[in-house]
Amino acid sequence: MWPTFAFILAASAILLHLWWSACYRGVRKEKLQREQEIARLEEQGKRTAAHGEAQQQALFNSMIEGVLLVDADGRIQLANQALDRLMGSTHEIRGKTIIEAFRLHQLSELIEQVVSRGQVLDFDLELHGTNARSLQVNAAAITDNEGRIDGVILVFHDRSRLKQLEATRKEFVANVSHELRTPLSIIKGYVETLIDGAKDDPTVSGRFLKTILKHTDRLNYLIEDLLTISELESGRSVLNLEQVDVKAVTVQVLEDLQSRADEKQMLLKNDVPIGTVVTADADRLQQVLFNLLDNSIKYGRVGGHAQVSARLLEDKKIEICVRDDGPGIPSEALARVFERFYRVDGARSRKEGGTGLGLSIVKHIVQAHGGEIWAKSDLGQGASFHFTLLPRQS
Ligand code: ADP
Repeated sequence: MWPTFAFILAASAILLHLWWSACYRGVRKEKLQREQEIARLEEQGKRTAAHGEAQQQALFNSMIEGVLLVDADGRIQLANQALDRLMGSTHEIRGKTIIEAFRLHQLSELIEQVVSRGQVLDFDLELHGTNARSLQVNAAAITDNEGRIDGVILVFHDRSRLKQLEATRKEFVANVSHELRTPLSIIKGYVETLIDGAKDDPTVSGRFLKTILKHTDRLNYLIEDLLTISELESGRSVLNLEQVDVKAVTVQVLEDLQSRADEKQMLLKNDVPIGTVVTADADRLQQVLFNLLDNSIKYGRVGGHAQVSARLLEDKKIEICVRDDGPGIPSEALARVFERFYRVDGARSRKEGGTGLGLSIVKHIVQAHGGEIWAKSDLGQGASFHFTLLPRQS
């Protein structure tokens, strides 16, 4: 009886052990699988989050506007590349406060206002110093699911160029008004004097009428130059490109200016080599040479000379040069003479009938041809104007 009982007991124990081991292995396997699944999901979640964050960052970085995200504690959570560029930040600003990152109290106050009022605010921000800019900032509060303010998003628009254009436009209008007013008031003065009786005095009336004519001409030149500038700047003028013989165009311009040169006993020379051909709009090239030579005569010395020459450059472009032996241009004014209404000697220019727009027109035309223009001068030794044009196209 005992051996049988002991045998049954041992067998049961073995079976129980086997069953338990099987169950335990099953449970362990299940646990392991669950753990693996959790790890996989966590990994996938991390990857998705990282991917989402990278996508968000790429999106922000592709924007022209600067974007800044600040959390409820006023610490920067995100800043895109445009913002770093606009603010000139070179270090990591994430985690810092606005004051720590930019030292801009106005910006910090704007954020506080957005948080307290919970509404969108616009603000003009002027940056000074080396990174001077005019920025427009739009700020809006970000809320969580329960409507609590969670942070602030700020979008920065760079208005510097617009402001600069606006300033240039205002300056231009002021200059034009001034240029128009001067000859008009002179004309008005002489007309009034004539009406008041000078018309009956033949010794002065002729002189007065000549002066009126001179200032009317000045107004005319000014309006013509303004129209040319406006046409060139609007991009409306189309270049009629053709193969142009530079020597032949120079002959024409020298002929047109000969009587003016004679008045100053100036010698005009055409040193352009025969066969110099450029790809250009012939009328525009003529206008460039006319303006440059006209200046050589206006500002050159009595009895002096002016000369046009040309040479082939290494890069196959043609450099054309107009040179005189007059008083020249001070070095600090060399780059500025191409600006609208810039004159080295205003009184002299006006006396000569100058509008202050001649070189600006010349620069526009040369640049429209894809060329460059520059001036050189040794004070007292004369001035030379150089510009490049494309050669003959085969
Ligand atoms: P303006 O109508 O006054 O001549 P420009 O634009 O043609 O206007 O020239 C700008 C200024 O550059 C002139 O007022 C003059 O002071 C200077 N300038 C131009 N050409 C010469 C030159 N050949 N020699 C000396 N000064 C010159």
